[in-house]
Amino acid sequence: MTPQNLTGKVALVTGGSRGIGMAIAESMVAEGMMVAITGREEAHLLAAKHRIKDAGPGRLETIVADVRQHDDVERAIDTVVLAYGGLDVLVNNAGVGIFTQVADMRPDQWSAILDTNLTGVYNCCHLAIPQLRKRGGGYIINISSLAGKNAFIGAAAYCASKAAVIAMTQSMAEELGPMQIAVNAICPGYLKTAMFTQVLNPILATLYGVHEDEVFERFVQHRTFLGRGQTPEDIAEAAVYLCRAENVTGITLTVAGGAEVH
Ligand code: NDP
Repeated sequence: MTPQNLTGKVALVTGGSRGIGMAIAESMVAEGMMVAITGREEAHLLAAKHRIKDAGPGRLETIVADVRQHDDVERAIDTVVLAYGGLDVLVNNAGVGIFTQVADMRPDQWSAILDTNLTGVYNCCHLAIPQLRKRGGGYIINISSLAGKNAFIGAAAYCASKAAVIAMTQSMAEELGPMQIAVNAICPGYLKTAMFTQVLNPILATLYGVHEDEVFERFVQHRTFLGRGQTPEDIAEAAVYLCRAENVTGITLTVAGGAEVH
């Protein structure tokens, strides 16, 4: 079977200004797709656009929009439809991590995680589904995490948000199947993005008594079969696969070097 040609397909990638989202957008542009990335900071989005612009035959637009704000997401989707004529793929990638044990976690920290990682996914799906239906079907890809399926100390809120995204993915797959909209989740493992280096490194270094510069390598050597971390490009490859997979819905595709097997 010939792989589906993605040229000209339209994708919205939330949180596309760096890390995993930027790599997904870059791979999609390389495939000839018409891509829009969102984020809260215009300067970060423009820097990402500068890096991605020559990745391939596709196109890239940037839209400042906060996934926590329903109105922002509505404006972002309207902008995509105006620029590209419709929407085929939604990638819910924007996410934040605050790692504090529940007893010490402030209400505003709890809300920041749930509002971004879960309500943000609802906002984008709620507003994108009518556009996907207008095209006769499409793809929703939710970036969850290994933390959505496993316990991590100090990560109860983050784990809860990512487990909820998996549950939401499975229910939406059933809801939207009759409309030919496939809904899948990707669970990335351990990546040296800003989320890991700026937020988790200091915590893990203290927990394991290792220097911050060594903690990532030590951590992935212990935690993965392949003995290495994952890259944003690994996750992008999985996302592009899910845009081509015509008979796959309701799955969580773990890309974690064997960090988890069931
Ligand atoms: P980064 O922190 O590197 O990037 C996060 C992106 O999301 C940025 O573009 C950021 O832009 C954007 N963002 C954050 N909050 C919002 C918001 N409210 N509205 C719109 N955009 C927002 O993270 P990663 O690339 O590492 O993570 C991407 C996804 O992958 C997240 O969902 C994360 O939970 C998940 N993940 C990451 C893992 C890792 O090891 N790094 C492992 C497993 C899952 P800006 O701040 O400018 O708004």
